[in-house]
Amino acid sequence: MKKYNALNESIISQLKAIAGEKSVITETERMEAYSHDELLEPACMKYPEAVVLAKNAGEISEILKLANRENIPVIPRGAGTGLTSASVACFGGIVLSLEKMDKIIEIDSSNMFMTAEAGVRTAEIQRAAREHGMLYAGDPCSGESSFIGGNAATNAGGNKAVKYGTTRRQIYGLEIVTATGEILNIGGKCMKDSTGYSLLNLIIGSEGTLAVITKVCLKLMPLPPNSIDLLIVFDDFQKAIGTVPEIIKLGVNPTCVEFMDNTVVKNCEKFLKEKLPHSENGHYIIVKIEGPGMEALEEDSVKIDELCSKRGSLETLVADPARIWKARNAFAEADRAESPVFSAEDLVVPPAMIPAAVKYISELAAKYGLVVHCAGHAADGNVHAHILKGALAEGDWREKLNSLQKELYATVYSMGGKLSGEHGIGYKRVELMSQFCPEHELNMMKSIKQALDPNLILNPGKIFKI
Ligand SMILES: Cc1cc2nc3c(=O)[nH]c(=O)nc-3n(C[C@H](O)[C@H](O)[C@H](O)COP(=O)(O)OP(=O)(O)OC[C@H]3O[C@@H](n4cnc5c(N)ncnc54)[C@H](O)[C@@H]3O)c2cc1C
Repeated sequence: MKKYNALNESIISQLKAIAGEKSVITETERMEAYSHDELLEPACMKYPEAVVLAKNAGEISEILKLANRENIPVIPRGAGTGLTSASVACFGGIVLSLEKMDKIIEIDSSNMFMTAEAGVRTAEIQRAAREHGMLYAGDPCSGESSFIGGNAATNAGGNKAVKYGTTRRQIYGLEIVTATGEILNIGGKCMKDSTGYSLLNLIIGSEGTLAVITKVCLKLMPLPPNSIDLLIVFDDFQKAIGTVPEIIKLGVNPTCVEFMDNTVVKNCEKFLKEKLPHSENGHYIIVKIEGPGMEALEEDSVKIDELCSKRGSLETLVADPARIWKARNAFAEADRAESPVFSAEDLVVPPAMIPAAVKYISELAAKYGLVVHCAGHAADGNVHAHILKGALAEGDWREKLNSLQKELYATVYSMGGKLSGEHGIGYKRVELMSQFCPEHELNMMKSIKQALDPNLILNPGKIFKI
C-alpha cells in the first residue's frame, strides 16, 4: 500500500502562500464538515489535515505541483452530497474544495451552451438556463445542494436520465487541472468529435481520481413548454414495476419514470407530515411527459392510463408536480430520520430485469432480518435500495450487510447488472469493486490511473485500492 507524508508547518505555509491565509483551514472544528459526505457511517469518516478553498485553476495547479513534490494526497470536493465517501480524505492530506469557484461564465444562446465553474450548484445551472428560455437536462435529486463539478465527477444521473441521459451526455467540454498540475481544455462546443480518444469521457465519472474539474461546458436544450405528471398507484409492487418496460414501449418518450415502494411511500408521508394518496397499500410509479403541445400530452396520458388499468393499477392521478416530486425527493432524508445509518445500494440492471432484481432484494432482506426500502429510476433499471441499520449492533449490522451484499451483487452481475448506476464506487464500494468488477477491467483502470497520476496523489483509495 502506498504511504504518504503528513502535512507539516512548511507545507501549510506554502498552501497559504498559494491560496491566501483565509482559504486554508486547519482548525479541527471547521474541518468537521469536510470529514464526511452524506454517508454517515463512522467507518467512512476521516478528518483531512487541511482544507483549501481554491479560487481558480492556477491555484489548483500550484497545489497539485506542491502535493506531488511533497507526496501528499489531494481530495477534490464539491458540495459533499455524495453517498460513497468519495470526497473524504481516507489517507489524510488536503481536501481541495471547489466551493469558491461558483460563477456562471457564459450562456451562449446561439450555440445553446453554458460554461460554468465547477462549484456552481446544479439547481443554479437549471435556473439560469430556464431564465434564458432553455433547459439544462441534468437533474439529480440532490440538485439544490450538489455542484455541477461533482455531477461531472460522478456522472450523476437523476430523474431525467431516461430521456436525456446522465451528466456525461450534457457535457461537451471541460477545463481540468491534471494530477501533475497542467491546466487543459478538453472537448468544446462542437456537436461531434471523433478526434482521437475521448479524454472528456475518461474524466467524467472518474470521481476526482484523474483530474480536478475546474470548468464545465454544458449543452442546453429548448425548454419544453408543457408537461403532465402522472401518479400511477398499484397495490402490488411486482405489478407496478413490471409495467414500467411496457410504458416505455408505448413510445411516449417520458422524461421521468420513477418508482417508490409502499414502505417508501409510508416513510415519506411520515417524514413530510403530508397525506399521500393510497399510502395504506399503494406502490407508486411517477411519470412525467413533456412536449410542445398539451393535446398530444393528454393523448399520451390516456394511453398510459389505459395500459396501467389493464395491468391492474388502482388509479392514475394527474399529480401536482411540486407535491409528488417533493415526496419522491424526500426518500433519502426520510430514511435518514428513520435510521441515521443506512447502506444506500445503487445497483443497476438491464431495465427488463428490474422486477426480478427488486424481488430478490426483498427476499434477501427477509433472509437476513434487515429492513430495506426501495425507490429509484425505474426506466433506467437503477434501484436505490436503502438497507437500514436501525437499532442493530455495529458488528451484527456489518456481518449481515456484507453477507447480503455478496449474494445481491453475485445475482445482479448474473443479470447483466453493475454495482452502481449513478452514485459511483468511492470508498464505500472499493471492496465490492475488487470482488465483482472483471479483473481485466480493473487492471485497465489501474493502468490509466498510474499513467495520468504517476505519484497517486489524486483522491487515493477511491474506486480501487492502491
Ligand atoms: C438526497 C440525495 C439525493 C441524491 N440524488 C442523486 C441522484 O438522483 N442522482 C445521482 O447521480 N446522485 C444523487 N445523489 C448523490 C450525489 O448528490 C451526487 O453524486 C452528486 O453528483 C455529488 O456532487 P457533489 O458536488 O456533492 O460532489 P461531492 O460529494 O463533493 O464529490 C463526489 C465525488 O466527485 C469528486 N469531485 C467533486 N468535485 C470535483 C471536481 N470539481 N473535480 C474533480 N472531482 C470532483 C469528489 O472527489 C468525489 O469523488 C444524491 C445524494 C443525496 C444526499
